Amino acid sequence: MQRTLFRALSAVAIAALISTAFWSSNPASAHSSQEWSFSRPSEFSLEVFPHDTATSTFSDSWGNRRSGGRRHRGTDIISPRGTEILAVADGVVKEMGTSRLSGYFIRIEHVDEWITSYLHLNNDTYGTDDGDGGRWTAFYPTLQEGDEVVAGQVIGYVGDSGNAEDTIPNTHFEIKHEGEKKNPYPYLRDALEREIQDRYGLDF
Ligand SMILES: [Zn+2]
Repeated sequence: MQRTLFRALSAVAIAALISTAFWSSNPASAHSSQEWSFSRPSEFSLEVFPHDTATSTFSDSWGNRRSGGRRHRGTDIISPRGTEILAVADGVVKEMGTSRLSGYFIRIEHVDEWITSYLHLNNDTYGTDDGDGGRWTAFYPTLQEGDEVVAGQVIGYVGDSGNAEDTIPNTHFEIKHEGEKKNPYPYLRDALEREIQDRYGLDF
């Protein structure tokens, strides 16, 4: 009687071991697919700097006070009017538009819900500061919403549209991840340093 009970218990234990081994090796089980999603890379880096670095200046102004009680949530990259603006990484053009504060702007969506935005694009006719240029002086001529872009592709031109009208031409550059704005400054520094290393072989 005791031997039978022992055999029955052994059978149950072996069955339990087999099913445990099966579930832990089965990639379709909820547990292991969750682990996989946690280990996915979610970090983002700029493959190229958004302006020609030789004629750009920028500083960390994240959180600085702005009019109407707003805080600065981007980095202003100062360059001469008309300088080409480059897509910083591969992606899709989600929005090209204009608004009172942003002026002409472009928003690009990249992998894993990373979004970059480029504000205050050029609104002046060539050689002037007249504000009469319209979208044809702001955006790369053939660019449209829904277009796929690659890192380094020209998407528009530096200007002072929107509330930058009374300042010097600059691109207000923003980075968002899963809907949350991130300070773009360290990303820009990183891109700049990598570009200088590649170009001149300098080390930091
Ligand atoms: Zn700004």
